[in-house]
Parts: sequence; structure tokens; C-alpha cells
Amino acid sequence: METVRGLAAARGFAVGPVFVFRGSGAIPIPEYVVEPGCDGDELLRFKRALYEAKRDLETLISALYERNGQTESKVFECHQMLMEDPVLIGQVEKQILENRVNAESAVRRAFDSARSVFQRMNDPYFRERVRDLDDVERRLLKCLLGFAVNPLQELKTPSIIVADDLTPGETIQIPRELVLGFATNGGSVTSHVALLARSMGIPSVAGLGDITSRVEPGETILLDGTGGEVTIAPTATAIRDFRDLIERQKELSEEVVFGAPAGTLKSGGEILLYANLHPGAPFKEVRDLGARGIGLYRSEYLWLNEEGEPSEEQQFEAYRAVAEFAKEVSPTASVTIRVLDIGGDKIVKGISQLNDTHQVESNPFLGNRSIRYLLSHPDVFRTQLRAILRASAYGKIRILYPMISCVEELRAAAAILDEVRVKLTEEGVPFDPQIPIGAMIEVPAAAIAATAIARHVDFISLGTNDLIQYVMAADRVNDAVAHLYQPTHPSVIYLVRRAIEAAKAAGIPVSVCGETAADPIVGTLWAAMGATVLSMSATYIPVMSKIFSKLTREDLDDYRRTVEAAGDNHTAAELEAVCRDWMRARIPDFDNIVI
Ligand code: PEP
Ligand code: MG
Repeated sequence: METVRGLAAARGFAVGPVFVFRGSGAIPIPEYVVEPGCDGDELLRFKRALYEAKRDLETLISALYERNGQTESKVFECHQMLMEDPVLIGQVEKQILENRVNAESAVRRAFDSARSVFQRMNDPYFRERVRDLDDVERRLLKCLLGFAVNPLQELKTPSIIVADDLTPGETIQIPRELVLGFATNGGSVTSHVALLARSMGIPSVAGLGDITSRVEPGETILLDGTGGEVTIAPTATAIRDFRDLIERQKELSEEVVFGAPAGTLKSGGEILLYANLHPGAPFKEVRDLGARGIGLYRSEYLWLNEEGEPSEEQQFEAYRAVAEFAKEVSPTASVTIRVLDIGGDKIVKGISQLNDTHQVESNPFLGNRSIRYLLSHPDVFRTQLRAILRASAYGKIRILYPMISCVEELRAAAAILDEVRVKLTEEGVPFDPQIPIGAMIEVPAAAIAATAIARHVDFISLGTNDLIQYVMAADRVNDAVAHLYQPTHPSVIYLVRRAIEAAKAAGIPVSVCGETAADPIVGTLWAAMGATVLSMSATYIPVMSKIFSKLTREDLDDYRRTVEAAGDNHTAAELEAVCRDWMRARIPDFDNIVI
């Protein structure tokens, strides 16, 4: 038995066979020798793919040139040169004709050898060209394979997916019933893949290093998404213990279904526990797990499929469905629809060129993403707002603007929303004229200026995933800096407190929809500071509910005071220990609940 430590990306436990997904960042390809005499067909396939890839690139370059001038299109001109390069292309053809390998394999081999030549060069310029080779190779392989090809289609029995890393697009395509857990070499706790895994209730461990090469397809492993560990070659006893834990977790969920409403405090009163949802996620589970509403509907997942940009009608149907579902949860429940929050690790293929624009941004997490993208693409924004407003006639909807950095963005968004309202009124289309508008506080500037922001909105929602990434200057998808994801860092606590106080002073409600809302120690602290809604992956609601059922309002005040009294002169780990000690003293079975 061997234990490999990683990062606890999504709580829960899984026992099962391994399915190795060898993506390795590179597109997984089939490799085989073609029948004698078929090499000509293979050559033709390659030439067609090359033609298609060049044509796509030309379209892209002219669009980029029109929009942004020469600088960005230059990168792709370099890609074009690589596609014209007689040595590189000659190598691919040689592989097909001399070694009779399939076109995908020939491309991989020729590009691998070019990469190793460039990597050995001393000149950083040439070493940097390796990335261009990667891009061109991807482009060619995608043309050869077609976008629809997904190696995960080989997945036939429920398994633990062991991968180098997964993209959000790949993750949502996997049939839920076939995934027991995710174990990845790379990734981090707040990457969107981890968030997806949580909202789908799939235990996950990220940052495992070289797990893909340490396991064999089909072998049984144990995955502990709570502790962040994977056990290879487990003993029979370890397997039995794991199965017990899985049973205990199920029992906890059942308590919520049959007990008091989720989030009810011991003394009466409540902290509203809402669910984070994305299009395509099963609604029913959310209600079964006790969610009292939907505090974050990540609309961008409508764009994260292969079918292109969703039309107004498609969006309207999706928003209406979730609004009607909220009504089923309870007559007072609402759904907070966050407008298109793309960029960073959420690369959207459906929006033309957007993917490529992000490839050329050197800092996509600081780039033209989210509300910035919408304000610079008002047509996309208008269509989405129309769809949301139309859906608001069918259930309680709140609109949430992501990545707000300054009041000007709220003003610009309000102007577009007004236009859409006027148009719908003229058309006689019903909508909720009082639809509440909220700002996400996830950029440090917004947290610091929360008083100004709060004056322009009806509610705020704290996005701690991004807030922590930006305040700590630590990329949320880079496992090398994962240790800097520190929810109890004094600066994080300071900013959250500042935002909550600003909202309270303005008399508007404040929720937390980042993953810290589901952290028994941290989420409880935000509630103690005054957050009235904690919105999280629904699978975490039972644990949080159990915690709150053991605490009174006075306990929460005491908890807040204890952290305040500890002061700022501490590391995140020390403050976490203060919190954990308090929890253990107040809730004797705390460690048993938090499984
Ligand atoms: C956040 O940043 O905390 C958040 C809820 O948004 P997302 O994780 O989708 O960026
Ligand atoms: Mg965010």
C-alpha cells in the first residue's frame, strides 16, 4: 500500500478502478501503423487537415488584425510560417510514407523532434518557439481528429479518472454516473475543474505530481478528496474502512433531508445555505441536499460546450428552467444568475476568436475577461441580459456582475441593462422590473472600495476564489503556488470583513459564493461576520448545516470575537489553528462531522 499526497480539491471518498486519461496538456491521439497501400490516404488526410488549419488561421489573423492591429496577429503569422515550413511538414510526410504511421502519430513524432531541437538551443527566442510548435500541433490534430473526439468516450464502467489535468470542457462532458473521482497530476483547489467536481459531487485530489505513471488502468485505488490523498494498492482493511466512510457521508446527507431546514441555528435563526449551480448540473440533487436557493448560477457553462455561442432562445430556456426550479425549492427562493464570466481558465470555444485572443494574452487572469469582456462586446451582453430579463417573468432571479473592479463598470452595465429594459417594454415582453442587481467582490480593489460599490447595487456576493488569488498574487490553477491559497490569511480576512461591513452599512445583503463558503472553519467565520447567505457546491450543504445546527447566534459572535482578538499578527496557519481550536471546543464531534 502506498499513499500519494496531493491537494484536497473536492471532499468525499471513492474506491474504484482507475481510468487513465493521458491528456498531458497535449491532445491524446490514436497511434497505429496503417495497412500497406493506405499511406496515400493517410497523406491525403494530413494535407486536408493542413489546408483546413491554414484556412482557420488566416481567418483568425484577419479578424485579429482588424480588431487589434498587427502585434497580436504577428504571433499567428509565426504559426503560419511553421505550417509552411518545408522541413517540418516534410518530416510529417516522411513519417507517413516511410514508417506507415497514421497522420496523427506522424504529426506528433515530427513535432516532438522539432521541439527537442528548439529546446536544446541557447537562444531564449528559439526556446520560446516550442510553445508555438505546441499550438500549431494542437491546431493540426484538432483538424485531423475533429473537435468532437473525446478519448473519455472509452470510459464504460464507473472509475476514478486519473489524468494529467482536465479542462472544464472535458470535465462537463464526462457522464456523471461513470466518474467516482478525479486524481490529477496538476491542478489546484480553486481551478474551475475542481469547482466543477465539487458541484457535481465528485471527490477529487489535484497536484499529485506523477500519479498517471504510478497507476495501471483497471487497478483499484482509494481517493480521499477530504484529506487530499490517493492510496495505491490498498489492503482489504483499508478498502473496508473507506467504504464505511462513504456510508457515513451518505447518512449525513440523509439527516439534512429529513431534519430542520439547512442552515438552521441551534438557537433558531438561520444562515441561508444556497447552492452553486451550472447549466447542465442536475437540479434535483441540489434540492435533495437541502439547498434553500441558488446563490450562484455560472452561466458561462452555456458557452463551454462545443456547439458555439448559445442563442438568446437557448439562454432564455436555461434561465427560465432554473428560475422555475427555484420556485419549486420554495416560494421565496431565488436564483442568482451571474453573467458570462469567461477568461482565466474558462476558455470558451463558442465565441469566435475568443479562445485565440486568450492564448495571446500573456496574463489572461488579468485580461479582458468577465464583465470587461461583456462591456467590450455589448451585443453578447445585451443578448444575455434580454434572456435573463425574459426569464425573470417565470421565477425570482437576481443578476450578478462578476469581476467588478470599479463603479464605472457598474454604471456602464446599468446603461446597457436600461437599454434592454426599454426595448423589452416596447416589445411588450414581461419581465421583473425590480430585478435585483449585485456585484461580485472578488477583485481586491472592489473589496477596498466596497462602500462605493455597495451604493450602486442591491446586494454583493463575495467571490473568495478569485479574491484570494488576486490578493495573494497566486494563480488559482498553478499548483506550484497552491500553498498561497490561504483563506485565513489576515489580508483575506481583512478584505472580507471590509466588504461585509460596507454592505451592512449600505443596508444590502451579502453572500459568499466562493468555495470558502463550504469550508467549515472559514464559511462559519464569514457567517459570524455577517454574511447571510453561503452559497456552495450542494454536496457540502449537509456538513455546513450540521455545523450550524450545533451553534447559537451567541456562539457565532463569540467565534468572530475570538478571531478578532487573535489580531492580524499571525500567519494563516496560526489563525486557522485558532479557529479549529474554537470549533473543537464548542463542537466536540467537529472532526467527525467534517469528513
Ligand atoms: C469566485 O471567484 O470565488 C467565484 C465564485 O467565481 P468563480 O470561482 O466562478 O471564478
Ligand atoms: Mg470568480
